[in-house]
Amino acid sequence: MPEALPVATVRTQVTVPLAFPDGYTTTVRVFTFKGLIDGREHLALGLGDWAGALDRLAAGGEPPLVRPHSECLTGDVFGSQRCDCGPQLREAVQRIAETGGFLLYLRQEGRGIGLYAKLDAYALQDAGLDTYQANVALGRGEDERDYSAAAQMLATLGVPRVRLLSSNPDKAEQLTRLGVDVVERVPTSIFLSPANAEYLAAKAAKAAEAEAAEAEAAQAPAGRTPDGPVSR
Ligand SMILES: [Zn+2]
Repeated sequence: MPEALPVATVRTQVTVPLAFPDGYTTTVRVFTFKGLIDGREHLALGLGDWAGALDRLAAGGEPPLVRPHSECLTGDVFGSQRCDCGPQLREAVQRIAETGGFLLYLRQEGRGIGLYAKLDAYALQDAGLDTYQANVALGRGEDERDYSAAAQMLATLGVPRVRLLSSNPDKAEQLTRLGVDVVERVPTSIFLSPANAEYLAAKAAKAAEAEAAEAEAAQAPAGRTPDGPVSR
């Protein structure tokens, strides 16, 4: 059974033109919400022909491409090479814009432990721990990210079914449990640099572990939320 989430509503929507440092430009519809479960200022970005994608979905066609992206100040804004968040965000914006869909920008920095703790974890990683061990050494979970607000935003936008742009099995698993019908997982590209090689290796090992556990577990029936009102 999907977990019951409170209903959120759109509080504003506004169009913002984007220009990335590499010259790529596009226009997004930015949605803000009332009633998100953790009270944080999460955003949904409608990219490309997102309205057409909603129409196709409502007519029983292919669900839109959706990526939940967790905030990474160092990677998204400053181009830190310790992770691959910046290039992943840049790739996601373009791939979603090409087909029409949504990027959910989630304010859960550092796998949910926050910015300062993430930087503390970097210091521990410099001492030899991997990204997960470092979080645990700080007394935090390996990965505290939670996709409840993402599921709420999707329900509010009228997106009960998605093609999920993600290589992280945990995102698909959590969203399914929260009532989002993940019909397909579309993998992201790998952005390797000398500074993020160990980080990416730890991430890949963790994903493989989760895949194995998922394959072993009995297949739970996928939950489904009722189709929400289309909000534009
Ligand atoms: Zn990052």
